[in-house]
Amino acid sequence: MALVDVLVAGTVRHHDDGNIIWTAVSLIRSQGTVMLFDPGTFQQRFAVKRRLEALGLAPRDVQRVVLSHLHWDHVLNFEMFREAEFVLTRAEWDSVQREPERDTATPRFLWAALESQVSVRMADEVGWPGDVQVCPVPGHTVGHLALAVDTAQGRVMLAGDALPNQESWRSGSPDPIFYSREKARRSLAYILGHSDVIVPGHGEPFFTKTGLPAGRTF
Ligand SMILES: [Zn+2]
Repeated sequence: MALVDVLVAGTVRHHDDGNIIWTAVSLIRSQGTVMLFDPGTFQQRFAVKRRLEALGLAPRDVQRVVLSHLHWDHVLNFEMFREAEFVLTRAEWDSVQREPERDTATPRFLWAALESQVSVRMADEVGWPGDVQVCPVPGHTVGHLALAVDTAQGRVMLAGDALPNQESWRSGSPDPIFYSREKARRSLAYILGHSDVIVPGHGEPFFTKTGLPAGRTF
């Protein structure tokens, strides 16, 4: 069974001039492999480092960083983990390379920065521990992925922005959408049907059936 620690839970604070956003940053340890799901953004850097240290780890101990998608708030801390391999879907990687201006939440420099500074691998080309499963959940973006992790407390779905908060859980529709609302609804339904706990991209973890808080360690 794998261990999941939500190092920093996602949150959104409303501000007169727009939202202040933190992204869920989660650590997965399975069969000797240390993985991170979404490194998050600059403001979260010190919190991520502190939480790793509390677990006896340093950024260099992370062997693999899984990117749910390429939006700025999920990715910009990539340079903290230069020694890790970065894994995402080919659909996401190709779409950002092909149409760098289509998605306004993906910095234009990001593709080139990732390619030149870290090792990037495609999710279907690397091996995964038996208790970790990659779930393609497109809609929010072209190639969004979620990670289903089997823990002693059930299946934990690291959902990213395919299910960003409890509002989406209630309405069945994740917002905002940058690609396809229909696909996003289908992806959200998949997550609901295949998880015991959901770690949303921008909210506290909760139990899939009840919506009640689920803590941060599984
Ligand atoms: Zn996003």
